[in-house]
Amino acid sequence: MADRVEHGQVTVSNGRYRPSGKFHHGYANSPIRNDEGVLMGVTNPRDVTHIHSYGGEAPFFESLSKGKLLGTRCDNADCALHETMFVPFRIHCPDCLSRNTIVDVTDIANRTSKVHTFMITERTGAFNTLEKPIRFVNVEFEGVDTILMGYLSVGEPEIGMRVVPIFQTENPTYTIMDLSWVPEGTQKSELLPGFSFGK
Ligand SMILES: [Zn+2]
Repeated sequence: MADRVEHGQVTVSNGRYRPSGKFHHGYANSPIRNDEGVLMGVTNPRDVTHIHSYGGEAPFFESLSKGKLLGTRCDNADCALHETMFVPFRIHCPDCLSRNTIVDVTDIANRTSKVHTFMITERTGAFNTLEKPIRFVNVEFEGVDTILMGYLSVGEPEIGMRVVPIFQTENPTYTIMDLSWVPEGTQKSELLPGFSFGK
């Protein structure tokens, strides 16, 4: 039912968000009754389109669709964190609050990514689209001061395992789902559909 409705669309023109169409859809309700058939309440099916603005993080999500992993770096020479690199992408330095410089860390990720730790989950939240069990991995990079959460899509995780990033370059979703991890040495034929190695 929900798949047949026309969802609202958004563009940005002259720096302003321009929504068009319907962003809220309601559907026929149904009664909630107890074992004796007595009315207890009603269900209220609703469908809401959330507008999620990426702001300064937009380059990160755009780059995933092109097979590139971006991080950022503080280039303020007066800052205690001068030249510190951040992955995940931080728009501002947490120490001096200046605007960070965007850096392409695809090559660093290809050469140095390791599983720092991991967790495997069978239970997920609403709207999960990842195959279960989900193998969440915390990935560390040489020269990068932070750790990135992601999901392993081939094999079983181990602490210290060398991994490489893969990217959904065919039909990208422009979300973090476009980035996944596989053990070093994985063949292209083993990757998730639509995914490819970094460029
Ligand atoms: Zn700084």
